[in-house]
Amino acid sequence: MNRNLRTRLLWVAATDSTFERMEQGGRAVLSGRCIHCRRRHVLSPDGEPLSPASLEHIMPRNHGGTNEAANLAIACKSCNAAKGRRLDCRRKGDPDLERVVEQLTARRADRWREPPEGWLLGDPPPEWNDPS
Ligand SMILES: [Zn+2]
Repeated sequence: MNRNLRTRLLWVAATDSTFERMEQGGRAVLSGRCIHCRRRHVLSPDGEPLSPASLEHIMPRNHGGTNEAANLAIACKSCNAAKGRRLDCRRKGDPDLERVVEQLTARRADRWREPPEGWLLGDPPPEWNDPS
């Protein structure tokens, strides 16, 4: 997985209070929960997913969603793909899409925290705020 994507996943985990540092099989990992279904996901300390995790854009990119941390979450690949198929393709202002974006935005805000001390994150990618 490319470095910018791994860096984004790390920053999402750092600002999502469901994620904690722990040991699994003798190695340090970050463990937390899918924004949709709360399934547990595990990242290596450099952001590589060790479970079928993906980067979710809460407001989809094709609806103007950005790469800012508050618009990003960690989701199961299957949850992410299901939202993509079901909702992200809809027109702007679609009530189902708006409702889900609102729910996920609120859930992400509830989980929000400042990155804990001692988490080695590196700098956010230079295009962190680039909507492309
Ligand atoms: Zn999920």
